[in-house]
Amino acid sequence: MGIYLDYQSSKPVDRRVIDAMLPYFDEKFGNPSSLHHVGDVATEILEASRKTIGSFVGGKSDEIVFTSGATESNNLAITGYAMRNKNRGNHIVIAEIEHISIHNIAKYLEKNGFVVSKIPVDQFGLVTLEKLAERVNEKTILVSVGYANNEIGTIQNVAQIGAFCRERNIAFHTDAVAAEGLLLLDVEKDKIDLMTLSSNDLYGPKGLGVLYVRNGIRINPLTIGGGQERGLRSGTENIPAIAGMEKAVEIIQKEMPEETRRFQKFRDRVIKEVLGSIPKCYLNGHPTSRLPNNVHFRFDGIEGESLLLSFKEKNIAVSTGSACSSKTLEPSHTLIALGLLHEEAHGSLEVTFGRFNEDSDVDAFLDTLPAIVKRLRKLSPLYKEEV
Ligand code: PMP
Repeated sequence: MGIYLDYQSSKPVDRRVIDAMLPYFDEKFGNPSSLHHVGDVATEILEASRKTIGSFVGGKSDEIVFTSGATESNNLAITGYAMRNKNRGNHIVIAEIEHISIHNIAKYLEKNGFVVSKIPVDQFGLVTLEKLAERVNEKTILVSVGYANNEIGTIQNVAQIGAFCRERNIAFHTDAVAAEGLLLLDVEKDKIDLMTLSSNDLYGPKGLGVLYVRNGIRINPLTIGGGQERGLRSGTENIPAIAGMEKAVEIIQKEMPEETRRFQKFRDRVIKEVLGSIPKCYLNGHPTSRLPNNVHFRFDGIEGESLLLSFKEKNIAVSTGSACSSKTLEPSHTLIALGLLHEEAHGSLEVTFGRFNEDSDVDAFLDTLPAIVKRLRKLSPLYKEEV
């Protein structure tokens, strides 16, 4: 497989998770809606997983709704909340650097009678209370700000935003996909009303997500059917995946402190060595309020895509940003929101570490990068003009 340094885009499922899932494909294949003993076995793991995930986020098991992934959770949270609460107001606030799924949900709501305001971020990608306060008004019913950014790794002051919203009786949704498994989540401390999680970001299977819905927060379902998940998300539950996510959370709860310390060592070493040895290279995102596994650079005179392809030739997988938007020619909306010019945004490279990285992967990246940068800059008329 070569060297994989793109854990933000996709994670392998942990072998221990696969082992926990396997019995639920055949031996324990029941449907939790069935009242017989085979159904009971499925209900048992469904409720155990709900409990484990509830406690993982500092909430209760009956506040956990299983979905098909983070995109669906974001839809259910924002559209579901907006539709249910439109009698209270038609205004929603999101941050400029939200994931593409949230921007597109916002566009959909705008076509359906809602007004959406976007909070600009500072040069490091932080949402400030001052800018948030400028955007809310008496019609605001919901604020959605991601816990941490999946591209530049900036961690928001979530507790501050939560308190701000609670004081004003505005619901607070956070997409915690980039943060889960790397930061301790606590919906009580942070006053979060709705929170999006995905199973794969915890080394669980794809095709499963979670929406945390605080008791008392009312949302409309978007999937109508047999009434599963307290009527909020009908459809037979994906029991093997739900068993897998429970195991994934159990592992993370034990291993997160050691794991994140290891990532942080990789991250800090890469930042120090790259900024110290390559001229005209800059760190995107926050210097300290940053995910422990995230590195995001930009290089003058180089296209991020050429960098990525040069690494690909060496069997090293890195990224230019969000995989969800990688097929467009547009620069990342997140980098533009930081105030970068289009050519600066195009010169970016993202590296994200994960569970199966070793020191030798970091060595290989650091050994390979300088020669690639040198070669690409030699080919770049733009860079020669600048020096
Ligand atoms: N939110 C964030 C922050 C993401 O990074 C992603 C992509 N991994 C999503 C939402 C959407 O996730 P999915 O494609 O699994 O639905």
